[in-house]
Amino acid sequence: NGILHPETQLPEDDRDVSLRPKSLSEFLGQKAMKENLSVFISAAKNRSESLDHLFLIGPPGLGKTTLAQVVANELGADFKVTSAPALDKPKDLAGILTTVTEKTVFFIDEIHRLKPTIEEMLYIAMEDYELDWIIGQGPSARTIRIPIPPFTLVGATTKAGNVSSPLVSRFGISCRFSFYEPEDMEAIVRRSAGILKVTVDNDAAALLASSARGTPRVVNRLLRRMRDFAEVFGSGHITKKVVAEGLERLEIDALGLEKHDREILRIIIERYNGGPVGAETLAISVGEAVETLEDYYEPYLIQAGLIQRTPRGRVVTALAYDHLKLAKGRNENS
Ligand code: ATP
Repeated sequence: NGILHPETQLPEDDRDVSLRPKSLSEFLGQKAMKENLSVFISAAKNRSESLDHLFLIGPPGLGKTTLAQVVANELGADFKVTSAPALDKPKDLAGILTTVTEKTVFFIDEIHRLKPTIEEMLYIAMEDYELDWIIGQGPSARTIRIPIPPFTLVGATTKAGNVSSPLVSRFGISCRFSFYEPEDMEAIVRRSAGILKVTVDNDAAALLASSARGTPRVVNRLLRRMRDFAEVFGSGHITKKVVAEGLERLEIDALGLEKHDREILRIIIERYNGGPVGAETLAISVGEAVETLEDYYEPYLIQAGLIQRTPRGRVVTALAYDHLKLAKGRNENS
């Protein structure tokens, strides 16, 4: 059912826009990163300068877009948002850059997917605050440079390794998101429940928090589903029983795995004897794009200690066998 799949944007994700933290103090978790950012923001404000370009790295649904918006709010700046695949032609980028004002926070999602021509335009914009623009065609074509106000570029990616080093080197600040700690996830549940005006028992919040893959977007979705179950089958109040039954209905297990995650582990175990199996082969076997496998499924399976990436491919761990209650194959060491 994809409820645990933060990569796909569900229509309901944006319905409760109110769940989005607006300030750094409302942005829970990621403590070290937040503390540093807060210093850089204060310093930029004191100097009345734009904030250095900011590079955000981490799996989907951890709040990269939210943080970019928070930074804009904290700076009192306007916020512009796009994603690399939407920047097809130079004029697409120029169209945005010509509307930025002093201190605008300009957010580009999936920045590892920029086309080379666009990326080069961006280098100049980031470094010199100028827009390189070609007028005319053929022999009479000439380049003019249009100055643009000092803005802050926020580039987000799930794949830092795929971002070219000249681009990376132009970001003054880099923030790496990690999966949220259980206590931060619980705090997010409580905050969101307050905004959605639904009551949740502490043990219920803890169970929800531990089943949501350390991902705020996922925990918010699960909370909405539990609110549905609580309203239809109970009094509307979310108890641990409501959550336990709800998770079972959604086929989400104690480690926060969905059916498809378990299927991936099962395929590695049963078809490939526990691995190693290459990402391409595995992706075909499980019926997913390699990107989806690598960007979404694997980071959490690795973090949960269920699979490992090795030079020869993916290998499941002993924990995966235990979790699926499967016995290890005879020739697992061959
Ligand atoms: P991505 O990292 O893929 O860009 P995202 O940044 O788009 O993911 P968001 O949509 O920003 O993820 O976050 C998903 C939802 O999770 C937000 O709407 C917000 O309600 C909630 N959220 C994210 N981060 C936090 C946080 N640190 N504290 C509280 N709520 C958060």
